[in-house]
Amino acid sequence: MTNKDLANLIFPNIDKSIDYYENLYAERDLKEGSIVSRFAPSPTGFVHMGSLFSAFLASKVAHDTNGIFYIRIEDTDQERKVENGVENIIRDLTNFGIDIDEGVVGENEEIGKYGPYVQSKRRDIYQCYAKDLIEKGLAYPCFCSSAELDEIRNIQEVNKEEIGYYGSFAKCRYLSLEEQIKKIENGEKYVIRLKSPGDISHRVKIKDLIKGELEFPENNLDIVIIKSDGLPTYHFAHAIDDHLMHTTHIVRGDEWVSSLPVHLQLFQVLNFKFPKYAHLSPIMVQDGNSKRKLSKRKDAYAAISYYHELGIPNEAVKLYLMTIANSNFEAWYQSNPNGTIDDFKFDFKKVSSSGSLFDMDKLLNISKNYISYLSKEELYERVLQWAQKYDTELYQLYIDHKEDTIAFLNIERERKKPRKDYASFSEIKENSWYMYDELFDAKAKEYILPENISKEDAIDIIDLYLSKYYSENDSEDEWFAKMKEMCDSLGYASNIKEYKENKEQFKGSIVDISNTIRVIFTTKMTTPNLYDILKILGANRMKKRIDIFKR
Ligand code: GLU
Repeated sequence: MTNKDLANLIFPNIDKSIDYYENLYAERDLKEGSIVSRFAPSPTGFVHMGSLFSAFLASKVAHDTNGIFYIRIEDTDQERKVENGVENIIRDLTNFGIDIDEGVVGENEEIGKYGPYVQSKRRDIYQCYAKDLIEKGLAYPCFCSSAELDEIRNIQEVNKEEIGYYGSFAKCRYLSLEEQIKKIENGEKYVIRLKSPGDISHRVKIKDLIKGELEFPENNLDIVIIKSDGLPTYHFAHAIDDHLMHTTHIVRGDEWVSSLPVHLQLFQVLNFKFPKYAHLSPIMVQDGNSKRKLSKRKDAYAAISYYHELGIPNEAVKLYLMTIANSNFEAWYQSNPNGTIDDFKFDFKKVSSSGSLFDMDKLLNISKNYISYLSKEELYERVLQWAQKYDTELYQLYIDHKEDTIAFLNIERERKKPRKDYASFSEIKENSWYMYDELFDAKAKEYILPENISKEDAIDIIDLYLSKYYSENDSEDEWFAKMKEMCDSLGYASNIKEYKENKEQFKGSIVDISNTIRVIFTTKMTTPNLYDILKILGANRMKKRIDIFKR
């Protein structure tokens, strides 16, 4: 009896050698220094801000170095699988504008030479490497039932010993080949465990690209590498996949830091080159007086779909994520206002090793700023696209009134300091419905005039304005000069400074007059530049709105 007999008994259908896979998935033909990174989600539903953060940075480092960013689906935990899980993940990533070079790109679709990229389709590969370890005496079958494992645990707890399957507790490690084979032939259930060469009194050191120097006791646990269903555990699959797919950098959440001793040992036992690790701290949120991890259950804004529904541009979310990822990004962006994230070189050294605090106000501010610098046509197209999905009424209005809409969106835009009105596309309707007669006729009910102006005053002002001081073709200067003239004629101060000095001499100021006009045509006290709004409305629509005001 040899280890080879045992290996053949356990994996009778595995007829390839590990050399076969080593040759099949040959080294990538990339320039020195190119990073190969991946995002490796379990198909459990949607992409959450924390995982997007890892995916975004992993893709960023790969693309910064002309490398490869790929997607691998980690579905070895069949119980956690969710219907359409893969599709939702790919949709969230692509909607967000993350470029996927390789791997899974749809529910049953993948590209690239290093696949399959779905772990459940790689069973033979994992089993081949496990078979090889058994042959070499580096792994063995374990027949312990969960009751036996519980018993071991109880003893360890009572004796305050290290918990787990190791040393003299690792009973199946010491079974003879004959005993192992007999148990298998008797149909006993088993898993495959690594025969850990580690010693807990030894220390292992690793330099994490974000956390810096890390040091742990060596792993001495005989961890499971193949479960009883024949699929690998996450740890084993990670080592095999990242080796065969030639991942150079593993960017992932720091919940995996504690598994590093196991991962390093697997790479060592399997004789694989170590990848570089970059463990990201979780994004935190302020909750009352304390901080906690951003939670997909508690925080609606943890889901990526939240941003799409609100119409917060992807670029703004990315700018925000880069701000929390690299401490020098904000300053860089301020001095390169026309630059894009692609021009900025991400640096692992500048990532904070403690979790960044998620600041929605900051994200919205970035978004406001970003939207304010879009050209009028681009903003129109972006809102149109967004509305097609999330606001069909607005979509129709944008189609029917394209020219007026673009003119409105252009008010105080495309200049050095543009207006910053909207943090999201969903706010635009609330701030522009009055530009559409279809909405105005139904919605114009409440007019809040300046305090010192009664409805009668307002009617007098607007009638006089339209009959004597308004002309459709006036330039802005002419228009303003006439407004002033009208103020003077009605006893309102056309000069604010003068008004402030001698308030009692006037009925009010030019501000009251212009706001009265503004309210009559828009119902609102604050709007973008009034002259431009009147220009878009034109005399006929203005007259109709005066009738609506008077009714
Ligand atoms: N499948 C693991 C997860 O869902 C990926 C961890 C890794 O990136 O190595 O978190």
